[in-house]
Amino acid sequence: MSEPTAMTIVCDDCGTTQPELSTRTRCTCGGLLLVRHVPTVTGDALRRRFDDACCARPSRTASGVWRFGEIVQPLAMADAVSHPEGNTPVMHRAALAAWAGIDGLVVKHEGYNPTGSFKDRGMTVAVTQARRLGARAVACASTGNTSASLASYAAQAGIPALVFVPEGQVAMGKLAQSLAYGARTLMVRGDFDDCLRLVQEAGDALGIYLVNSINPFRLEGQKTIVLELLRQFDWDPPDWICLPAGNLGNTAAFGKALEEAHAWGLIPRLPRLAAIQASGAAPFAAAFSRGFDTLVPVQAETLATAIRIGAPASYRRAVRAITATNGVVLHVEDRDILEAKARIDAAGIGCEPASAAAVAGARALRSSGVIQPTDRVAAILTGHVLKDPGIVERMHGAGGLIEAPNRPVTIDPTLEAISAVIDG
Ligand SMILES: *Cc1c(COP(=O)(O)O)cnc(C)c1O
Ligand SMILES: [Zn+2]
Repeated sequence: MSEPTAMTIVCDDCGTTQPELSTRTRCTCGGLLLVRHVPTVTGDALRRRFDDACCARPSRTASGVWRFGEIVQPLAMADAVSHPEGNTPVMHRAALAAWAGIDGLVVKHEGYNPTGSFKDRGMTVAVTQARRLGARAVACASTGNTSASLASYAAQAGIPALVFVPEGQVAMGKLAQSLAYGARTLMVRGDFDDCLRLVQEAGDALGIYLVNSINPFRLEGQKTIVLELLRQFDWDPPDWICLPAGNLGNTAAFGKALEEAHAWGLIPRLPRLAAIQASGAAPFAAAFSRGFDTLVPVQAETLATAIRIGAPASYRRAVRAITATNGVVLHVEDRDILEAKARIDAAGIGCEPASAAAVAGARALRSSGVIQPTDRVAAILTGHVLKDPGIVERMHGAGGLIEAPNRPVTIDPTLEAISAVIDG
């Protein structure tokens, strides 16, 4: 077994360090906290450790997160709250690649995680940390997937969970999970941005451990999406990684993972990040187009509820991620998101609307010539198709939301009726 790596928790803004076992998720100066690692080995030796950890079962290394534990949370590898999670597939579908105009387009499907979204990768680490701290309760604001994930992991850890969601704006599958897994579910009369403000106030006032994506351990877990992807590419990175962007925690995590992987000799060069927003919730894309002068929050509106966020909390870290990887930020219209979703769904893969933004964005970047036809592109599908059954019903119903809806057919219970459908 390897000795643990050195880990410190540092404020982004003032550089002050925090003890590892602290319930604070922000510095006293208000800055965000970051976990800093110094691995004991790098390059080939570090790659080999991850490879060796890969197939040992059953053990913590059955998790696609804890396999990378020594650069995630080395002090908690033996007592993680884990399902396990991760180990999500990379898929290539010729029809989808052709539609995007990129032969080398693959999708990595984070909807294959235990609660159906990538949020499980951050939550296993954050809830593990909550248990190490002896937290009396855990809480988050959420557009739905964070609350579903927290509800599940908190149940496993035996810690009461409180989730804040915007009333009437959470997809059905996600709300169902929060209730089913037993989280106290608070429907806030307001939007996600109101929920986030409220939960931070409540955390400070009531001493509840916050596991929103500003929680430094969430980012550490979410880094493993990239680490696992790089490993699936045999550490020969793709040219581009495209992901949907809302609160920007994941964009920040991807940037950190890539910078670390490069600095530690895991990969020879950096892929470029493409962060994709919905046009009605695109303050990050707007700031990018102005040279990242400043973030101007917006009133967010989009059918892709997971990225319906107007004041992203991890803005500055996401700027760093885009800058460090020579990345781009763009926005796509809801109709393009749904058209991409229809293609992903019809390929037999399926995803929730926000995830489809990654593929819609890849296609748009190919059209505008930013992505070359021969580039190798990985788009991250962040959530499962069953998260949002309501939108599927609307897409394929009378709503006319997509070009070629697959309408259900009502028939009489006769063979003639079936024949008529087949012939017609
Ligand atoms: C949370 C989430 C996102 C957005 O991630 P951020 O870290 O908020 O930018 C995108 N898609 C899905 C399905 C999500 O659950
Ligand atoms: Zn500080």
